Amino acid sequence: MWEYGDSGVVTVSRTQLNSPFAEQRQHGFRWLKFSPFVEEEFRQSYSRGTAGRARLLIGLAVAALLVLIGSKLSQPGPPGMMVAFEVLITLPILLGTLYFSLVPARHRVYLWMLAASLLLLGLMINSVVTRASMQGMPYYFAATVAWLFVVWLICGLPFRAAALTAALISSTYLWGMQHWNFEPSERYFGTATLAFVNLMGAFCCYQLEHALRRSFLESKVLSQLAERDGLTGLYNRRSYDQHLERLWRQSRREHSQLTLMLIDIDNFKDYNDLYGHQAGDDALKKVAEVIRQAAHRPLDIVARFGGEEFALVLYGPDTSYSRELPEQLRESVLALKVPHQGSMTGPYLSVSIGVANVMPDADRSLEGAVQMADEALYQAKEEGRDRVVVRDSPNTTVQTGRFRVKRRFTA
Ligand code: GH3
Ligand code: MG
Ligand code: MG
Repeated sequence: MWEYGDSGVVTVSRTQLNSPFAEQRQHGFRWLKFSPFVEEEFRQSYSRGTAGRARLLIGLAVAALLVLIGSKLSQPGPPGMMVAFEVLITLPILLGTLYFSLVPARHRVYLWMLAASLLLLGLMINSVVTRASMQGMPYYFAATVAWLFVVWLICGLPFRAAALTAALISSTYLWGMQHWNFEPSERYFGTATLAFVNLMGAFCCYQLEHALRRSFLESKVLSQLAERDGLTGLYNRRSYDQHLERLWRQSRREHSQLTLMLIDIDNFKDYNDLYGHQAGDDALKKVAEVIRQAAHRPLDIVARFGGEEFALVLYGPDTSYSRELPEQLRESVLALKVPHQGSMTGPYLSVSIGVANVMPDADRSLEGAVQMADEALYQAKEEGRDRVVVRDSPNTTVQTGRFRVKRRFTA
């Protein structure tokens, strides 16, 4: 009797299912930081999710600022330093934030512009509040408190940026109270209130971002699981169809060749009958791993087409590569030396491979190409199994009439 080593089985599921997202989820994260790749993805989706709210707020601020600047300019006398600052610094930064909120690729610039906008608006609020307080209206202080909540919780600033912005706004207010000699009671109250608000804001902001990061990882892992076959970790039929359609359109645009391979394990029913279903599953995983290793270029697709049948699609391969690879693949499966005493082709488990080399153009349909590979596979089986049959589209006439263009592929 033969034995299966563990390694082949474990390798398939690890290499296929463990994406950077799954690994991050498994190892956890501390201090709201992912590994660089995952962090970049998270930041992009984070700013996309929160930009709408921030845009609304910054848009309102721009409108208010324009009214303010207009009213100052309409007063007699030369405009003061503050107006110049508002026109030359604050307004461009607010408008820049609005602009970058619409450009997802510049999410880093957007977040720092947003932090700068919230800081500048916070400083303006501080200056109004401080002046009001000096004129006997201390209750304006509520505006600073409210703004700190906006910074921590409303606009979607990441924790660190929110902490820096809130710290600068709070410390300038504290400095103002000191500088303009506020009453000690008002200073104590102001300091204690700011400390409390920032503590609460920081706690809630941290919790919120932590939860968002966790659910980001969960959703990435779930969507990855949905497109994979549970046994082999390869793409399942559904995601294979989607990727293939996209690749087909791309090859048509770029006039590059597609090689479609259908790979079917020989006499697999007998294998299951002889060695049992579990051994059959293990053999499927081993064959899947061999096929997966063959698809090493970024646009190649490898999928479990169904049962003991796999599909491998090579995008724009050069002719020698597409000629040699199926044969190498067939030999690699034999080299696994998985004993199959019920096989009619030899002592070991083998595969038959049908290959269609097609140049997608207006006269070709994807269904036709898949059918060509299917017919090549059928021929390989007919001719005795454990072999490769190749069909090239210019030399092939498909009899069934299905090799016609369908409307949805003509776009
Ligand atoms: P051929 O050489 O003509 O391809 O013969 P075959 O026996 O491989 O083909 P057939 O279609 O008759 O049988 C396919 C078998 O594959 C039937 C089923 O037992 C087995 N199979 C399909 N999916 C799985 C699976 O997920 N696990 C296991 N263990 N077996 C499977
Ligand atoms: Mg089979
Ligand atoms: Mg089959």
